[in-house]
Amino acid sequence: MIAENISTLKQELGLKADLLIVSKNRSIEEIEAAYQTGHRLFAENRVQALLERADTLPKDISWHLIGHLQTNKVKYIAPFISCIQSVDSLKLLKVINEHALINGRTIDCLLQIYIAEEETKFGMDEKECRAILELQALIPLSNIRIRGLMGMASNTNDEAQIKKEFTGLKKLYDSLQQTYHFDMLSMGMSSDYRIAVACGSTIVRIGSRVFEG
Ligand SMILES: *Cc1c(COP(=O)(O)O)cnc(C)c1O
Repeated sequence: MIAENISTLKQELGLKADLLIVSKNRSIEEIEAAYQTGHRLFAENRVQALLERADTLPKDISWHLIGHLQTNKVKYIAPFISCIQSVDSLKLLKVINEHALINGRTIDCLLQIYIAEEETKFGMDEKECRAILELQALIPLSNIRIRGLMGMASNTNDEAQIKKEFTGLKKLYDSLQQTYHFDMLSMGMSSDYRIAVACGSTIVRIGSRVFEG
């Protein structure tokens, strides 16, 4: 079932968007079943679970972090993390750079933008995003690459609302893309990935639709 779900999703996404499989709350056996299809791009939203899984599962997996990251936890994931999609401050960018340097690596980062109507704790607004991009450009952060933006739409059935939020994020992305050489726009989950892809997402983060019926 997992293999079939992945194959269906990949066919549907085609070259439009990459599939990032969100393995949070799934068993090692389920993740291995996804891995067996040849898929290598996985994400967790919590550092502790990410560390356990990265330790247990094959080393050729590209891991993304999609949940809030505290600066004091960066050192644990810096040796292997491929992309941190949930960057929400300049301070965090600096700490990621510092630990990437210590490990002799480059770590990809996305700035998490707050686009939903409901109150959430994480992410930045457009103004903060522009300010952080301008500030980081003035200091040499040699070991990170800010590749784009990530956003999560409101948890609603109102498709027009979701479309409005994704369109807003795409507009911000487009306005920054040339200056900052962006090539990743992470939006869309199981419930709204079709809308996200239609709005220009380049990578969708999908859990339930891969692991459930
Ligand atoms: C859990 C999670 C997803 C995937 O959600 P599904 O509905 O299971 O596809 C995507 N993005 C983030 C940030 C998540 O925490």
